[in-house]
Order: sequence, then C-alpha cells, then structure tokens
Amino acid sequence: MNASADQSIDYQRVLETIHRDIEPFLKQGQAAQYIPALSGVPLTKFGMALHTLSGETYLIGDAEEPFSIQSISKLFACTLAFRLLGESLWRRLGREPSGTAFNSLVQLEYERGIPRNPFMNAGALVVMDVLCSHFVRADTAVLQFLRRLSANQDVGYDSDVATSELERADRNIAIAHFMRSFGNLHNRVDDVVGTYCRQCAVEMSCVDLAKAVSFLANGGTVPWSRERVLDRSSAKRLSALMLTCGTYDAVGDFVYRVGLPAKSGVGGGIVAVLPGVMGICVWSPGLDRSGNSIAGRQALEWLTTLSGRSIF
Ligand code: GLN
Repeated sequence: MNASADQSIDYQRVLETIHRDIEPFLKQGQAAQYIPALSGVPLTKFGMALHTLSGETYLIGDAEEPFSIQSISKLFACTLAFRLLGESLWRRLGREPSGTAFNSLVQLEYERGIPRNPFMNAGALVVMDVLCSHFVRADTAVLQFLRRLSANQDVGYDSDVATSELERADRNIAIAHFMRSFGNLHNRVDDVVGTYCRQCAVEMSCVDLAKAVSFLANGGTVPWSRERVLDRSSAKRLSALMLTCGTYDAVGDFVYRVGLPAKSGVGGGIVAVLPGVMGICVWSPGLDRSGNSIAGRQALEWLTTLSGRSIF
C-alpha cells in the first residue's frame, strides 16, 4: 500500500459514518473504577482523529478534548528506553503476549521477575526503572518527548489522577517489590511507581496522539519535523510489539477485528498505526473486562473495514 493509493479514500466520510453508528456502543462497559479520578468520566464521550503522513488531520466528536492517556504512555516510554538501550533492553523484558490481565503478577514468580512484555504493568515498571536510572526526572523526559511528538507544548499531567492512582497503587507496588527481589528493578520502588503514575496521568487529545504516534507509521521518523526517533528496523520492532502485546489479554480478538498495531489505556484511548499512511487515535471511556475501550475498538474495526486498509 502507498499513500497515493490512499488518496482515493474519503477518510472524513468514513469517520462520519463511524460517528453516526457508534452511539449504541457508548452505553457499554464502565470507565476505570480502580482509579477514582477516572471513574466518573461520562461514557458518552467519543472522539477519533487520523493524522496522515502528508500532514492532514481528520477528526470527529470529542477528538480535541484531552483525556488520561494511561497505558498509551507505555508505548512512548518504551520508545525512549529502546532508544537508550537497544536490544539489551530485552535482557530485562520479554516480547511475548502474556494472556493475563495487564496488572497481573502470576507469571513473575516462575519467570524470575522478567515481565512478559513492556506493555503490561510489570514491563512498564521495568521500562520506567530504565528511564529513572538515566534521567534526573524521568516523568519530565517522557512529557517533553510527548510535547515534541504532538507539537503541543501544553501537554501536561493531571496531578489529581496521579495522586488518586498512587493512593491505590498496592498492586503496582507489589509488582515492583517482587521484581526488585529478583534484581530486575534498580531504583527505589516508591520513586519508580510514583513516576509511573505521573506518566500514566498525562492528558492528551486524540488529535495530539494521532500526531504523536505517526512516527511509527513513517518508519521511525516524525513526518513533519523529519526528527528520526527510531531507525526503521527498531520502528518495525516496536510496531510488531504493539500488534502482539498492545491490547492486553484481548489482543488476539482485537487484531482479528482491527488488523492494526495498537496500544490501549484504561482512560479509554487507543492509538493505532497504519504503516505508510497515518497515525490514529480513538477515545471513549467505556471499557471491556480487559481494559480496552469498547466503542474505541468498534470504531477501529469499522475504520479498517470501511476503508479496506489494514496491515493485511
Ligand atoms: N495506570 C494504570 C495502571 O497501572 C494503567 C493501566 C492501563 O491503562 N492499562 O493500572
């Protein structure tokens, strides 16, 4: 597929069709209950944005409203860690789907503190540990990276969401201590978990995120600034990890329906990549049991079905 072939598709019309039909899905699921500051976000929120490599943005609904990016941040933190350590990152992390919940710790015992992948919480805590060892303020490093990739200096984090999560972070704290007991966490547990919660509490809109993820659709180079974030091969590898591990224990069904590499978060956002064409983001807070946005997944399924474009 190439970008010129894609100009035959009226993406704005595709988005409007999705918007028209999505309503019944907005009543389904629940906003994340275990983070009190997120539990009250109205289920009726829905936005979607596409950012093409040639610089057009298509959007519908609440696409310009900032929301809590949560685990979508894991993709960008992992990009930074992969850039710093290259292949040696995989001495401390696996590259396999876990088949367990994103915040599970069952596999860590028999896999000796090595998380299955960087997109489950255990893996993201190892990534954060790498960043804490390298940067004086790892949360600021991630935030600045996100501001640059979205070309939006106003991107920030919501301290109420970060505090609200930290007050109930027993599971993530347990995971971090457990990995530390295996020697796979080098910094203090409270520093790593606190920094991780602030990273998850970053707020961005669909428009910001569609733009921020477009470097992965463009072989690792930011399309408008020409900044090389990752070499082509590393960008391929990171997109492959999104495909196999980006939507938790529902990844098989997600890829069956959508056919794109994607990363979701419990704020209800999902970013996805159509290689050679565009970065994509959809947001709606109602989650399924795996923590993926129900309306978001449906919208992505319709996007690839109506446009006939996916990685397959
Ligand atoms: N901050 C959330 C957590 O650690 C992120 C989880 C998610 O978005 N899947 O539980």
